[in-house]
Amino acid sequence: MPTIQNQLFIDGRFVDAQDGATIDVLNPHDNSLITRVAEAKAADVELAVAAAERAFGPWSRMAAADRGRLLLKLADRIEACADELAHLESLDTGHPIRDARHIDVPRTAACYRYFGGMADKFQGSVVPVETGFLNYVMRSPIGVVGQIVPWNFPLMFTAWKMGPALAAGNTVVLKPSEITPLSTLRIAELMAEVGFPPGAVNIVVGYGHAAGQALAEHPRVGKIAFTGSTATGRRVVEASKGNLKRVQLELGGKGANIVFEDANLVAAVNGSAWAIFHNQGQACIAGSRLIVHERVADEFLDRFVGLAKSIRLGNPLDPDTEMGPLTSALHRDRVLAYVDVAREQGGEVLSGGRAPDAAELARGCYVEPTVVRARATDRVAQEEVFGPFVTVTTFKDDEEALAIANGTEYGLGSGLWTRDLSRAHRFGQAIRAGMVWVNSYKRVNPGSPFGGVGQSGYGREMGFEAMHDYTEAKSIWVNVDAVIPPHFKR
Ligand code: NDP
Repeated sequence: MPTIQNQLFIDGRFVDAQDGATIDVLNPHDNSLITRVAEAKAADVELAVAAAERAFGPWSRMAAADRGRLLLKLADRIEACADELAHLESLDTGHPIRDARHIDVPRTAACYRYFGGMADKFQGSVVPVETGFLNYVMRSPIGVVGQIVPWNFPLMFTAWKMGPALAAGNTVVLKPSEITPLSTLRIAELMAEVGFPPGAVNIVVGYGHAAGQALAEHPRVGKIAFTGSTATGRRVVEASKGNLKRVQLELGGKGANIVFEDANLVAAVNGSAWAIFHNQGQACIAGSRLIVHERVADEFLDRFVGLAKSIRLGNPLDPDTEMGPLTSALHRDRVLAYVDVAREQGGEVLSGGRAPDAAELARGCYVEPTVVRARATDRVAQEEVFGPFVTVTTFKDDEEALAIANGTEYGLGSGLWTRDLSRAHRFGQAIRAGMVWVNSYKRVNPGSPFGGVGQSGYGREMGFEAMHDYTEAKSIWVNVDAVIPPHFKR
């Protein structure tokens, strides 16, 4: 069994909530209780912010290479604990253990390692201004940053947020989702083990309306980075107004995934199944709208629906399981309700659309891989379902494909399958989205910027862009030997 931490992590110590409140953490496979975790409220957030403030001076003045070394040590430690962390993530979120072990954990370690290496390489610049002056631009950390992370990829998303923030010299107060806090608390423990100073990182598990809101409103938090729904993103912006804190938003998506008639259909079928069914479709970048050329639609769908029906659902801790449960019962119900919405608007359910029959899955939050033929304007093709639920719409020509792809309020991830190089680049540039994958889907790398446009938010995670987003440009002017005539002649 993995180590399970169930207290808040404030100022380098695990502590109970001040009022002793707790939240039940459930296993989505059967809704059994895993543990009760301390519930932070505004008073606990206050303590965490105060600890982060005290830590900020020494942390930001520490040599960048030394901050980097701690992140590198953390990456090593994560790899050493890979099996345990994978088990914990799988237990808490429902990610199949094979994915947790081969995707979540390695990507988490890679992210901390990337930003560990980045710490002493992200540099300012010297601007060629008028003779006699030296103007240099430093990238200064912002201060205490608040980070709010959802339940779909807790291990990876905390790395995406904490890695660049810490490398840049900020200190962190992070609120994981109360549904899936366990891997984040274990990471905090590993951070303490490898030598992160008290207060550099603080973890306040709690509800969004209490702990999340307190963090977003906090007058001494300089930035809030949020991943979650567009509706909550708006509330975060509203809450941030008091001290005009910087805001970074990674919100919902409705990923267009276009299959052209010249596509390699075998690759497109496999890639499109990964695009939507990995992590039970609970991904902001999921390819949740298949847009298929009418001439290949029948053949594509034949293969795609066949593959969807063959996916092995099961206990996420079973190494043979390919798709686990959704992360909470509430969310499962939300996803299943969209099947009714689809039917009401004339959508045709081609596969799935219900909870599986198997007795051993009956108490869990399972939903079968669901494929629905729908019109591009139907609600299910416009709203983020966030489950193993994909709509299929056909198109006649490139113009129509692009109009459908760009026909939602979102703009996060998107993909296209074609052998035509010129079309690939044309669409790559014309699709309104933060990320476009050609003949693949859902590739991420710590060096490549991740984020969206439109209602999918703003700001970028990862890469140099993230370092920019976690620092302020500070322009320093030095008069080296300029003679400045007096402006007011007396
Ligand atoms: P939310 O956007 O409500 O939750 C995301 C995070 O924000 C959680 O930690 C949540 O805490 C917190 N939060 C909620 N209210 C506030 C607030 N007022 N101030 C600050 N933080 C707050 O997502 P849901 O869990 O309700 O999921 C609903 C839908 O959102 C999904 O169906 C999906 O469409 C989308 N979603 C998108 C994600 C993405 O990766 N872009 C991730 C998760 C959801 P708490 O859990 O206590 O509410």
